[in-house]
Formats: sequence, structure tokens, C-alpha cells
Amino acid sequence: MAEANAKVKIKKKVKMEASLCSRCNLCVLACSLVKFDVFEPDKSFVRLIGDGDEVLKIKLSRGCDMCGDCFDACHYGAMTMTRIEVVKK
Ligand code: SF4
Ligand code: SF4
Repeated sequence: MAEANAKVKIKKKVKMEASLCSRCNLCVLACSLVKFDVFEPDKSFVRLIGDGDEVLKIKLSRGCDMCGDCFDACHYGAMTMTRIEVVKK
């Protein structure tokens, strides 16, 4: 456990693996729900860029604050966020 006067910072490392994406859209909807309280893909900061059913790229657009909720919604390993606690004394 961190000492009382130590500063704890969370470092976030993200990884996108578009080839693993199933296009379930949970990440897209999670973002619009958390940020705007609606299930509206157009409001989401997650963009699935692809060709037909194939997702070629997963992008986070301007406005994303890296809260991580869309990463937590992905159960296919297509987008992952590792949080590392860094303690500074
Ligand atoms: S990390 Fe960005 S894209 Fe994902 S839910 Fe948070 S604001 Fe939305
Ligand atoms: S990145 Fe994950 S949550 Fe988002 S559509 Fe692809 S598989 Fe679903």
C-alpha cells in the first residue's frame, strides 16, 4: 500500500488489435453512454474504420479523455488498456 504522503499516478498503456475486432459495437456504445448518457454511435469517441465487415483500424477521436470505459467493454482483446500504478514519494 502507498504511504500517506506518496503520490499515486496511474499510467495507461493501450493496445489496438483491429484484426480481433468482432464489430460487436460495445466499445462504441459504452463511450456514448458514459459520456452522453445515450446509446448513439455517432456521439461516441470510438471509431471503427473498415471495409465491409472487416475492421482495419480502431481510432479514438478528439474529445476522448482516456477514461478507459470502452476498453473495459471489449471482450475480444481488440482494444486493451493496462493500468499501472506508479507511486512517487
Ligand atoms: S476512453 Fe475515450 S473513447 Fe473510450 S470511453 Fe473513454 S472517452 Fe470514450
Ligand atoms: S473493439 Fe472490441 S468492443 Fe469494440 S467492436 Fe471490436 S470487439 Fe467489440
